[in-house]
Amino acid sequence: MAMNVEAVIIGGGPVGFMLASELAMAGVKTCVIERLEKPVPHSKALTLHPRTLELLEMRGLLERFVSKGSKIPSGHFSMLDTRLDFSGLDTSCPYTLLLPQAKTEQLLEEHARSLGAEVFRGAEALSVTQNGAEVQTIFKDRDGSVRTVTSQFAVGADGAGSTVRKQARIEFPGTDSTITAALADAALLSPPPSGVMSLCTKEGGVMIVPLSPNQYRIVVVSPYRTQTQKDVPVTEEELKADLIRICGTDFGLTESSWKSRFGNAARQAKRYRDGRIFLAGDAAHIHFPAGGQGLNVGLQDAMNLGWKLAAAVKGTAPLWLLDSYHEERHPAAEGLLRNTEAQTKLIDFSQAGLHLRSMMSELLAFPEVNRYIAGQISALDVRYEADPDMPPHCLNGSRLPDMELNLPDGSSERLYSLLQNGTFVLLSLIQEADDHSRIKGLRTVTASLAEPDGKLRGVHTILIRPDGHVAWAVDASAPDCADLIQTGLRRWLSVTSRV
Ligand SMILES: Cc1cc2nc3c(=O)[nH]c(=O)nc-3n(C[C@H](O)[C@H](O)[C@H](O)COP(=O)(O)OP(=O)(O)OC[C@H]3O[C@@H](n4cnc5c(N)ncnc54)[C@H](O)[C@@H]3O)c2cc1C
Repeated sequence: MAMNVEAVIIGGGPVGFMLASELAMAGVKTCVIERLEKPVPHSKALTLHPRTLELLEMRGLLERFVSKGSKIPSGHFSMLDTRLDFSGLDTSCPYTLLLPQAKTEQLLEEHARSLGAEVFRGAEALSVTQNGAEVQTIFKDRDGSVRTVTSQFAVGADGAGSTVRKQARIEFPGTDSTITAALADAALLSPPPSGVMSLCTKEGGVMIVPLSPNQYRIVVVSPYRTQTQKDVPVTEEELKADLIRICGTDFGLTESSWKSRFGNAARQAKRYRDGRIFLAGDAAHIHFPAGGQGLNVGLQDAMNLGWKLAAAVKGTAPLWLLDSYHEERHPAAEGLLRNTEAQTKLIDFSQAGLHLRSMMSELLAFPEVNRYIAGQISALDVRYEADPDMPPHCLNGSRLPDMELNLPDGSSERLYSLLQNGTFVLLSLIQEADDHSRIKGLRTVTASLAEPDGKLRGVHTILIRPDGHVAWAVDASAPDCADLIQTGLRRWLSVTSRV
């Protein structure tokens, strides 16, 4: 039986469900096609970083996630001894949330379903083709029947081996793995005293993170095994031998529930968009999982794409909007690949490599250096190109941290809570603002800042995108303030054009 929806997402991993939530919230008829009948119980990723947490806060989801995980005020760069200090960053989420990927996926799937996204589990996409008007996705359903779904748009959130990417003939240039490392989730009868451990010696590197009272994630990079192929199974014997060699003890490793080997292949899709087909998450970029960033950047892709696709479906997207997804997110993942390649280069246990590591570690002790790298890993430093058709402003394209606003009726409100419905927010920081409330998809708010903020000094009005970035800001000193605001609103919101 043929089906019709507005958007199809192929792949129900974290990125697919985040995107499905964004689309369903905007009222887009969305379905997710996921090959697995049940979610996998083990977790590749363990952490959510500050920018991802901010995005969850914007949708009112943060508390739910935080209640299932634990906060750590720091991160790491290539397992260097000096930790990245997230606590001093300009964010309401100055920490990493330790939350296994399986939990993140479960919460996002529940959320997407609760908003009305239809989910086909045990369903494998076989082909995705498009003409100028629509996309046809053929998939094998869990009962073996072959079905077709027609949609206005399709998104490949189907991971590194993406069928959608291949079907759209989008190139995936980059480099193959040159090293592999091993991990296990296991019990440790004699765990390290603080639970967490990170150690690099000439014998290799080990990282241990507690997952629950009797489960630990153990990651081992052994210089003697970096050439082992990814598909060679990891054994407990190998891990114990490596741990003893590097740490002097195997910590009583036993009862591993999951073991895996992973590599440093680094690739990025040449284009994130081909007509009506888009790529997001691992389908668009893969790299060595250093610094715990892949899932985070994928969720940030989803947050960038969701409102744009929704606007295109509703017929309110300016012509340039869908292309801006590639223009904004491709450079973000280029940065991700650069920093993970640099981290991989630092995984060098030769004498010279260890000297380089200790020198880098010393440099990280300088607060400004630490802040700079922490900005990259946390993704708080991501800034999009300023709108070229609006007058330059230092805020244009940047993210706004959450802040307290005083409303005219005397009440107060957090900025991020204004973004919960995924609309644009037009924030007027002067009292006699014009009325724009008739514009669909726009929430207009007049407020003053509860705490002075240097970057916002002198600002008359800001248009905040549904993903929390500034579309444009206009200063009160601009001679043609009201006209500029009208132009800016027309540019981002009121153009009705079908793609
Ligand atoms: C060892 C390791 C540790 C990591 N640690 C971290 C970390 O700490 N922090 C972090 O941010 N990231 C980490 N990552 C990366 C992170 O796991 C990935 O970036 C993340 O899983 C990407 O999510 P995704 O939804 O894009 O793709 P996936 O999680 O791969 O999901 C894709 C989904 O698509 C489905 N699918 C595929 N093909 C089809 C098809 N034809 N039809 C239907 N469904 C299909 C798959 O079954 C799957 O469910 C780690 C990765 C590894 C390997």
